[in-house]
Amino acid sequence: MADCLFCKIAAKELDADIVYETDDLVAFRDINPMAPTHILVIPRRHIDSASDLGASDGELLGEIFETIAKLASQSGIPGGHRIVTNVGPDAGQSVGHLHFHLIGGRGMSWPPG
Ligand code: AMP
Repeated sequence: MADCLFCKIAAKELDADIVYETDDLVAFRDINPMAPTHILVIPRRHIDSASDLGASDGELLGEIFETIAKLASQSGIPGGHRIVTNVGPDAGQSVGHLHFHLIGGRGMSWPPG
């Protein structure tokens, strides 16, 4: 999508601190990290949010979660991590391109604010 920030990052039209990429996904450091490790994993293909996923996205989701597990393991955060995807304004989604936050390196509370 022409005016989508994360589509531009995936297309390398905008700079980002990319830590891993494949034909189907890109992982890059969040510009405003909430924890020592804060990486965003996005599909290259524009998908608005997790509400737009279906059974045909199973392979993509498998690759995304495998990537998150690999990045978490490489990040030196043995105490655990959180995977978050916000959907819609009440949940705090500020970029309308599906993304999974990998957050770790500090203790986290529950429930979220
Ligand atoms: P959300 O609020 O769940 O939609 O998450 C969007 C995330 O994208 C936020 O954590 C932002 O800090 C992050 N973000 C926004 N612009 C950029 C950018 N240019 N590079 C990296 N991360 C970004």
